[in-house]
Amino acid sequence: MLYNLNLPIIDTSVVTLDNTTYALVTTAIPGEKLLAVLGHTNGFVGELQHSDRVMLCARTPENARALRARLPWLQPSVLGLQTSAGFGDRLGIATPGHVQSVRDTGVAPIFAQQSVRENTRTGRTPQQVLDDAMWGAFEAGWREPWGADADHLKALADIEPFIAAGYTFYTIDPGDYVDDDAEEDDTATLRQKASALPWSDLRSSLNETQQRYHRQFDIEDLPLAFDEYTLLKAVVKYGAAVAHMARMTRRIQELAGQRPFEMEISVDETRTTTALLEHFYIVSELKRLSVPFVSLAPRFVGRFEKGVDYIGDLAELEQNIAGHASIMRYFHNAYKLSLHTGSDKFEVYPITMRHTQGLVHLKTAGTSYLEALRLIASIDSSFFREIVEFACSRYDTDRKTYHVSATLAKLPVITSLTDEQLPDLLNQFDARQVLHVTFGSVLDTFGSRLDHLLNEHQADYQVFIKRHFDKHLVAFRSR
Ligand SMILES: [Zn+2]
Repeated sequence: MLYNLNLPIIDTSVVTLDNTTYALVTTAIPGEKLLAVLGHTNGFVGELQHSDRVMLCARTPENARALRARLPWLQPSVLGLQTSAGFGDRLGIATPGHVQSVRDTGVAPIFAQQSVRENTRTGRTPQQVLDDAMWGAFEAGWREPWGADADHLKALADIEPFIAAGYTFYTIDPGDYVDDDAEEDDTATLRQKASALPWSDLRSSLNETQQRYHRQFDIEDLPLAFDEYTLLKAVVKYGAAVAHMARMTRRIQELAGQRPFEMEISVDETRTTTALLEHFYIVSELKRLSVPFVSLAPRFVGRFEKGVDYIGDLAELEQNIAGHASIMRYFHNAYKLSLHTGSDKFEVYPITMRHTQGLVHLKTAGTSYLEALRLIASIDSSFFREIVEFACSRYDTDRKTYHVSATLAKLPVITSLTDEQLPDLLNQFDARQVLHVTFGSVLDTFGSRLDHLLNEHQADYQVFIKRHFDKHLVAFRSR
């Protein structure tokens, strides 16, 4: 029926349900697509065409909502303990490529995922991020469950707009309440700090906590026992963070009402490593305070930096991950181990899968943006050179809130590279990090030009994304 009208339909999007057909159609403007509704059009806002048989609707938040109401699989949902992967998309056009990558892998996807920090830098709202992901899932014909991650929520005030937009996965980052100095404090200082913790929020006391933890725990072959010092260190380092996580949880529960959601606890963006004993302490405290969570992102040994493989001793990391996995088993495998800053950590994936038996959430964010830049490098070399030079000028400022170690001096001199060598710059450690952390500034300055080019080369962008994510997902797939 819809095909008889001779509209430029995107085939993968076409779906018929309850006597109504929905599809995306392209327009003369690259990237501008319209929703075509043939049948029951009530609830949609658009223009009736072809003797009023079809309504063409702009991709507005209102029409997104109406479409979600009609096609329930376009609403994000909870994913539970399935092996899962988050695909951050800073530009809002990468989801069709993500769908192609994740399809038939058995990995449960999170297509909408943006932190408050990223939203600030890209100028997008939680609703826009979710709607963009939804339109992408619709366009590519994704019909299975997918999640929406309100990433790195730090303050109570961060929560509300994500609830309003219908997010299903809430990543709580209590980093502002983690006391990294505890690593250096002596026992007397720790004692003093411990007595000043918000014990009423923790519904406990230092005394009671000491009684609870001063014993040997049988965790497979790990000799895990707290002594006064290690317990005080764990309590001081994470006690206030645990209290904050409980506060954040209550707020989410309050605002979400009956709507199902899941939570992740992330302490990955702290200065110090999360010791196994501290993982144990955090989880038992959260259980005691009835904080439900589906995954935990500790800070592992070594360095997980943006956009590059693991930096550190891989054997040491493996032992570390094995230890975290033992603790997870002690808690009956009730949550997943989450790999934050997870893009491009190709050596880490098989290790994590092996030790957790698939209880893993992989979180990637900037890598899809870097693939966009790789595409730009191959189709418009002078524009790419402009972006690189600008990114270099912004690096010292923009790197401040990220874990990166690239130095500008190690970047190849861009004027000495031929056009053919440019895409390869995206394989160079320092260049990747410089381009990774400057995305906000680059989008501010070049956003519309970048969008325009990518929209003109959408099929290529999807190919680039799929090629890059195939390398990620091969370690996680169950099909
Ligand atoms: Zn993180």
